[in-house]
Amino acid sequence: TEELLRKSDKLKVVGQLAAAVAHEIRNPLTALKGFVKLLQSQYDEAKVPYLGIIQEELSRIEFISSELLVLAKPQVSRVAQVDVREVLEQTIMLLATQAVMNNIEISLVAQDEAALILGDGNQLKQVFVNLLKNAIEASSPGCLIEVGIHLTEEELRLRFADQGCGMPAEMVGRLGEPFYTTKEKGTGLGYMVMRRIIESHHGKLAISSKLGAGTTVEVILPRRLQEQPIHRVPAV
Ligand code: ADP
Ligand code: MG
Repeated sequence: TEELLRKSDKLKVVGQLAAAVAHEIRNPLTALKGFVKLLQSQYDEAKVPYLGIIQEELSRIEFISSELLVLAKPQVSRVAQVDVREVLEQTIMLLATQAVMNNIEISLVAQDEAALILGDGNQLKQVFVNLLKNAIEASSPGCLIEVGIHLTEEELRLRFADQGCGMPAEMVGRLGEPFYTTKEKGTGLGYMVMRRIIESHHGKLAISSKLGAGTTVEVILPRRLQEQPIHRVPAV
């Protein structure tokens, strides 16, 4: 019998394929970058200006493949007690310069206690970086980005609220499709990577957005992972 793949399953397959391709691209790419560097050291930059362009474009390929590679990683590869509050604080610091340069304020509202969950801290950090970057990129100068942490016995709720450009409903529905972007320099991989990581933590994403008013993204994570089986993805 023919089985219809659900949209999310299809996207998962696409993601795994993309990650496999990215993995194969990596080694030849490293070799290319090395040889272009060698050429740059042997030729006069003014006479061969396109060497710089080659180097820049190779870096872009490298960046895109590094995003895709996340999709190939085994799910929740390093599970440990993670203080999500601490991870969030680190992420906000990481993006502080980018925010200040754009005159955007990021404020964290949280209880004093640690927000402990079982999970992979590095993967969660990647989710927060992606969400905050999107919020910064959508905001105009003077806007505020509010990050909230709400902790209960069973779950952890994180709220990322921006006052940026917002999105029409049709666009919200497409978040997570590979390469879906409205940005000139975007990859359109952020949401695909985030969904994958949150799914592997058995969590949920809730997005509400209003065109011209702002976007709120909620990440809901269970605090324990043991009860649910963790599916491993075949290595590529
Ligand atoms: P990228 O950031 O590389 O474009 P993403 O998957 O992170 O890829 O986001 C896809 C698209 O969703 C963005 O290009 C943007 O149009 C829209 N988007 C994401 N987050 C927000 C936000 N907070 N406010 C407005 N639009 C957003
Ligand atoms: Mg993004």
